[in-house]
Amino acid sequence: MHDVIIIGGGPAGLSAALWCDELGLDTLVLEQGAEIGGQLLWIYNSVKNHLGVEAANGREMRDVFAAQVESAGFDLWTEAAIEMVDLRAKRITLRSGEELQSITIIIATGVRRRKLGVPGEVELTGRGVSESATRDRDLLAGKDVCVVGGGDAGVENALLLAEVCPTVTLVHRSKKLRARSEFVERLQGNHCITTFTEAVLKRIIGDKEVEAVEIQRSGALKPFQMAVRGVLIRIGVEPNTESFRDQVQTDERGYITVTSEQETSIENVFAVGDVSNPLAPTISSAIGAGATAAKVIAARLNSANR
Ligand SMILES: Cc1cc2nc3c(=O)[nH]c(=O)nc-3n(C[C@H](O)[C@H](O)[C@H](O)COP(=O)(O)OP(=O)(O)OC[C@H]3O[C@@H](n4cnc5c(N)ncnc54)[C@H](O)[C@@H]3O)c2cc1C
Repeated sequence: MHDVIIIGGGPAGLSAALWCDELGLDTLVLEQGAEIGGQLLWIYNSVKNHLGVEAANGREMRDVFAAQVESAGFDLWTEAAIEMVDLRAKRITLRSGEELQSITIIIATGVRRRKLGVPGEVELTGRGVSESATRDRDLLAGKDVCVVGGGDAGVENALLLAEVCPTVTLVHRSKKLRARSEFVERLQGNHCITTFTEAVLKRIIGDKEVEAVEIQRSGALKPFQMAVRGVLIRIGVEPNTESFRDQVQTDERGYITVTSEQETSIENVFAVGDVSNPLAPTISSAIGAGATAAKVIAARLNSANR
C-alpha cells in the first residue's frame, strides 16, 4: 500500500513526487514513456521564462530536473503502461499485470499534440510530415511546404519555415487566425506565405515521402491538390484523460476540473499540471500545482494519525 501514486513523470508529477518524498510519504511515480520529462522533450527552442533554470532546449531542462529527482527517495517506474484505474478504490492495474494500491492518487498525465486524423498523416510522419520547424528545419529547407493550424504555434512555425522554404501554404479551419497579432502582422507581410482560411487539409499524398496535399476550401465543390514536399501540423493539444474520463469530472474538452487544493471530484484523487490547467499550461504552473497537491495530501494523511 502506497501513500501516493503519481501517474505521469512530467514537471507536474516530478514536482509532486519531490514534495511528497520530502514530506515523508511513500511515493511511486508511474511514467508510461521510456524516459521522464513529458513535453520538455518536445521543446527545441530555448526556455527562458522559468525562474531559476534557463536552458537551450527542453531536454537540457529535463536533465536538470532528472539529476535532482535521482537523488530523491521515491520510486519511479518508466514504461509503466496502465491497463485499468479504479479511482474510487485507488487501485491501478498495469499492462504487465501488476496490481497497485494507494491511499491517494495524483493524475499528472499532461497533454498530447492533437492529430488531424487524415490519410497519410501517420504513414508519412518523419517522411515529410513534421511537428516542429525548429527540429526539422534542415530537413524541410528548400522544399515547398504546407502548415496546418492558425494558432500561435502554427503561424510561428510558418514564419520559421518561410526563412528557408521557397513557398509556405498555411491552412486554417476558421475565418480568422487565432495567433497573436504580432505573428499575424508578420505573416501578412511575408510574400513566401499564402494563407487559406476556412480550409481543411483532407489528405496527405505520397508513396515513400510527402508529394502533395489535398485541401478543401469552404464553398468549393471539390478539394484541390497541391504539390508540397513537407507538411507541418500544429492544431493544438488535448488532455491525456482517457483512462479517467468516465470516473472523474472534466470540462467539455476533457480537462480534469479541480478545486484550489488540486482535488478532483473524487476524494483523495488529485490532478496537477496541464491535464487540469487549460488556461496556463506552463512549467511553473505545473510545478506549483504538484507542490500544492503534495502539501494537501501530507496534511490530510498526518491528521489521520497513521
Ligand atoms: C513546444 C513546446 C514549448 C513549450 N515552451 C514552454 C516554455 O517556454 N515555458 C513553459 O513554461 N512551458 C512551455 N511549454 C509547456 C510545458 O512543457 C508544459 O506546461 C509542462 O510540460 C506540463 O507539465 P505536465 O507534467 O503537466 O505534463 P507533461 O509535460 O505533458 O507530462 C505528462 C507526462 O505524463 C505521462 N503520461 C501520460 N499519460 C500517462 C499514463 N496513462 N500513464 C503514465 N504516464 C502517462 C506522459 O508520458 C508525460 O511524460 C512548452 C510546451 C511545448 C510542447
